[in-house]
Amino acid sequence: MASAPSQPVVTRFAPSPTGYLHIGGARTALFNRLYAQATGGRFLIRIEDTDRERSTPEAVDAIFKGLEWLGLTSDEPVVYQSTRESRHKEVVQVLYASGHAYACFMTPEETEVAREEARANGHALRSTWRDRTPTADELMQPHVIRFKGPLDAPLIIEDAVQGRVTFNTKDMDDLILLRSDGTPTYNLAVVVDDHDMGITHIIRGDDHLNNAARQTLIYQAAGWDVPTFAHIPLIHGPDGAKLSKRHGAQAVGDYEALGYLPEAMRNYLARLGWSHGDDEIFTDAQAVEWFDITDINKAPARLDFAKLGHVNAHWIRECDTDRLVELVWTELLRRGIDESQRETVTERLRLAIPQVVERAQTIPLLADATAFALVKPPFTLDEKTQKLLTEENLERLSRLHEKLLCLTKWSAETLDAELKNFVENEGISFGKIGPVLRGILSGGQPAPDISRTLAALGATESDARFKQALFI
Ligand code: GLU
Repeated sequence: MASAPSQPVVTRFAPSPTGYLHIGGARTALFNRLYAQATGGRFLIRIEDTDRERSTPEAVDAIFKGLEWLGLTSDEPVVYQSTRESRHKEVVQVLYASGHAYACFMTPEETEVAREEARANGHALRSTWRDRTPTADELMQPHVIRFKGPLDAPLIIEDAVQGRVTFNTKDMDDLILLRSDGTPTYNLAVVVDDHDMGITHIIRGDDHLNNAARQTLIYQAAGWDVPTFAHIPLIHGPDGAKLSKRHGAQAVGDYEALGYLPEAMRNYLARLGWSHGDDEIFTDAQAVEWFDITDINKAPARLDFAKLGHVNAHWIRECDTDRLVELVWTELLRRGIDESQRETVTERLRLAIPQVVERAQTIPLLADATAFALVKPPFTLDEKTQKLLTEENLERLSRLHEKLLCLTKWSAETLDAELKNFVENEGISFGKIGPVLRGILSGGQPAPDISRTLAALGATESDARFKQALFI
């Protein structure tokens, strides 16, 4: 159980809609949601769409699609940062009026010179306008508004994951708060929005650690409480390098298409960078019960597809058959099956899936494992099977066929008992009949053991496949 902070926890996920929902982002959202749930708090979503050139409505949709698929929804209406511009400007005015911001009229060339000078003197950029009060006329000229922070002072962030991180303000530029076109900049907007949304804990990727220092100065200047920061290490690929395109699937949607279940992704992503003892498989409720930011690992987590497959296999086994039938059918549609076959195929899947679900790690693999049940007689028996159809074997198969026709209960268990009985009565080992039986039943596709194969096919389809082999 997460240690209960003194005030109600409010967390947020604040993606910039410039592309798909990356699994790193999905994990950030999950951690924020889990922490809010674990502490009885609220989890909010803010779309940071102020960069009008890079933000697209398609990306917003893609992010929501990914979040919805994962079941990570906001406890309150989603905030769009672009709608809050006037509030951002208002705060800049307050900072300006209180002497925490100043107007800077430097040209790009002058800025470059100042930057060089600052570098030579061992500190970050300071504008020549820092301590000047512009005249009303000057204020009519194009200018930016810069933040006026302490010149040379230590700045300490007690990060809930990284521990104590020390910065010095002499290494921090006088940040632009408002551009010359009057639009607010990223760090300013984030602080104003997080403050106004009442965010108490900011859990995000550690690529934002430097921003945390800049943002802390703005909070302090505005006289606002600084939220608790928790900067989580980014996800690395199996080879230990930062996750990139060459590692394969990046977008949450890719994982859906690869046949991972949302509950498996939640389980796996929660475990990726956070741990509760050695527990690898847990429910959402357990994650909520156990989650605490203090248990987030400081070292980057490596994506491990073998582990993900193992977790997914567990959640596939937990699924009810109807849901698996739908998922496999969707996979078959993706592979080009005709919609008109829905009824017959889903009926077969309903019988087959329980017999092959045990080892399937993904939905496409589960679909592959059911392929034998979907082959339609007449089909050509492979050469090996044809050779096995000797007089003796045909007679034996015929006797078995008769026996099976009399079965009153068609299940893997009753079939298994019947098969055992049969070989005993025939005085043969199972090896004598197994290969030919498998050959006539499997349609040349991989199939489970014979009793499961028969159970998966059902009585009618098994009968049809016997008849095809026996020419009856
Ligand atoms: N919008 C930022 C991003 O997508 C995150 C900002 C934040 O979490 O503070 O990287």
